[in-house]
Amino acid sequence: MLISAAVTRDASAPPVIEEIELDAPRGDEVLVKLVATGVCHTDLFAPQLVPLPAVFGHEGAGIVERVGERVTKLRPGDRVAMTFGSCGQCRNCLDAAPSCCEVGNQLQMGGTRADGTTTLSRGAERIHGSFFQQSSFATHALGIERSVVKLPDAMPLELAGPLGCGIQTGAGAILRTLQAPAGSSLVVFGAGAVGLAAIMAARYANLGTIVAVDIHPARLELARELGATHAIDAREGDVGARLRAIEPRGFMYSLETSAVLASLVTAVECLMRRGVCAIVTVPSMGKPVPFSLLPLLKGGHRLVAVLEGDSVPDLFIPQLAQMYLAGRLPIDRLARDYAFTDIQAALADAQAGRTIKPIIRY
Ligand SMILES: [Zn+2]
Ligand SMILES: [Zn+2]
Repeated sequence: MLISAAVTRDASAPPVIEEIELDAPRGDEVLVKLVATGVCHTDLFAPQLVPLPAVFGHEGAGIVERVGERVTKLRPGDRVAMTFGSCGQCRNCLDAAPSCCEVGNQLQMGGTRADGTTTLSRGAERIHGSFFQQSSFATHALGIERSVVKLPDAMPLELAGPLGCGIQTGAGAILRTLQAPAGSSLVVFGAGAVGLAAIMAARYANLGTIVAVDIHPARLELARELGATHAIDAREGDVGARLRAIEPRGFMYSLETSAVLASLVTAVECLMRRGVCAIVTVPSMGKPVPFSLLPLLKGGHRLVAVLEGDSVPDLFIPQLAQMYLAGRLPIDRLARDYAFTDIQAALADAQAGRTIKPIIRY
């Protein structure tokens, strides 16, 4: 079928909307007519990693239009969120850890289906799709049954897409990866969509001290409204000393979402003995950085990576939707709408930090 999609042809230039072809759904595939998609930071740097031309976007939500002949979980008309792909057969998938699927990197960033074929084309030209097994910067997307999740009826589709990546990463970091108990202390570095989702989840889970660290006063104010008990503007200097003033023995948990080396160092140093630092990103796009492991050893700390909040999507995304509907995960506070034709502005505003969670409406 013919669809409108934002095609990236040059990693240094924004995508341009083109009319291209999308395959019909194969056996386990689900065709979704998108209502909206969130923009996540991975969309911004992925053009440097995925073969081009390609269509990005991985926080899609919409209505199932057609399903492949092997699909039993979904039917046309279902209201759904799309999320990351996983194989369902490897050790980690079988062990309820699909975000660590053995072939997950290929399924998210390979630009193709699991079998290496592409879902998108323009005439004879192959266009890479299947980004996080969706490529949602388009009017329609093909997902796989495992990565398309039915939503509660009342969940607004224009807010549901980010549940499939940024929100489940931040909320899942607290509720699933760290399983932080009520009363425990937490510092969140970076009050973007992931960090703020973590703060909302921390309040939901009745944590005690919840500190937000950022460099944007408006985000710190929002962090307070969403559940942070303290807010620290990192531009005002010595974040470590100010954290010690709040919790002299250190924090049980820290979450690093900013990709700033100084924040990562502080996120480890601010922990109490046996505290845990969780990271959702790395400084310098993963290039080597000076980082001493000694504080980890001295403190008996753990450093853990958070992939998609250790979500089991069919369980966790409906839970997040119910939290939203109960007023406990007010993600509308992070969102700003853009028309699909304004996708370049949405990406630029995400990059510049002007918008916490751009939502593209179709
Ligand atoms: Zn797997
Ligand atoms: Zn993402």
